[in-house]
Amino acid sequence: MRRAAALCALLCLALTACSPAPAKQSSTIFAMDTVMELQLYGDGAVLAESTRLITELEKELSATDPEGGVYAFNHTGTELGKSAAELFLRAMDISRLTGGAMDITVYPVVLAWGFTTGQYRVPGDEEIAALLEKVGYTKASGFDLPQGAMIDLGAVAKGYTSDLIADLWRQRGISSGLMNLGGNVYALGKKPDGSPWLVGVRDPFSDTFLGTVEAEDVAVVTSGAYERYFERDGVIYHHIIDPKTGRPAKSGLASVTVIGPDGTLCDGLSTAFFVLGLDRAAEIWKSCEADGASPDFDVLFVTDGGEIYITEGLEGSFSPTNDYDTGDVRVIRRG
Ligand code: AMP
Ligand code: MG
Repeated sequence: MRRAAALCALLCLALTACSPAPAKQSSTIFAMDTVMELQLYGDGAVLAESTRLITELEKELSATDPEGGVYAFNHTGTELGKSAAELFLRAMDISRLTGGAMDITVYPVVLAWGFTTGQYRVPGDEEIAALLEKVGYTKASGFDLPQGAMIDLGAVAKGYTSDLIADLWRQRGISSGLMNLGGNVYALGKKPDGSPWLVGVRDPFSDTFLGTVEAEDVAVVTSGAYERYFERDGVIYHHIIDPKTGRPAKSGLASVTVIGPDGTLCDGLSTAFFVLGLDRAAEIWKSCEADGASPDFDVLFVTDGGEIYITEGLEGSFSPTNDYDTGDVRVIRRG
């Protein structure tokens, strides 16, 4: 009897060992104004389904496409679609957490600078002051905004999309995959060999990587001045606007990377922390205690001077590349 059980166990083991590992499937698409790379281990049909979902979300969340859902909300007061409405509410929560440093109602100002159209210009002080009258998440009552106000979900759309794609992959039984939605990475599970995914963090001062973070079931989202900018009379103007001044944020940071299980939150926070700067962002991180109830995330900051700061959860998971020394990395602790 015992021999039969042992034989059966051996047979099961042999069968598992022989069953082929799920095949790697990958695709590259252009959506939401960026190149997106998806890679998963499993059924290729899931990739096609993911592409359809991204295309649907792109339409529903777009503020620039005259057929887009947010465009219609801004211009004709049409109700937001289900995903856009959900994301609107999530964005409002992130505005509250960050004191309005990330604020989807900043859109009229972003438009004036030309960041969504590519027709760049430097608006004058009076124009900015007039536009700021319409800006402010606290002026919204539910989905009702003051006359002339407009929203743009661009600061959270890719993180939200990565969350929905990761949910889809899980529902379809995928246990290993990686997506890079233009700087918004999400790592599902581990690599097929059982090791964690290694996600490169871009060096904001060059085209190379600053280092890597180990990632498993987390988003890794970076906001940086280098992502979109223009130059006028020798001055560089980048695309992340401080809603308090209506001008590109100058907080002493070159980039911020937020890592955590909630891609929407990480995306919103990376934008907000870029506006707030190191000290105020670190305060928010400290206020979110690692108690399982508070928002769960870690942060990597790169200052304008090239210093790297990581919150303590990244100790051991972040490895700088050869250009940087581990000694250059400062750790921010709660205690
Ligand atoms: P991200 O790349 O996620 O940091 O988002 C930046 C994009 O969000 C910009 O290209 C603008 O369209 C928009 N944006 C800029 N500043 C803000 C802000 N303070 N709050 C919300 N959205 C913003
Ligand atoms: Mg963002």
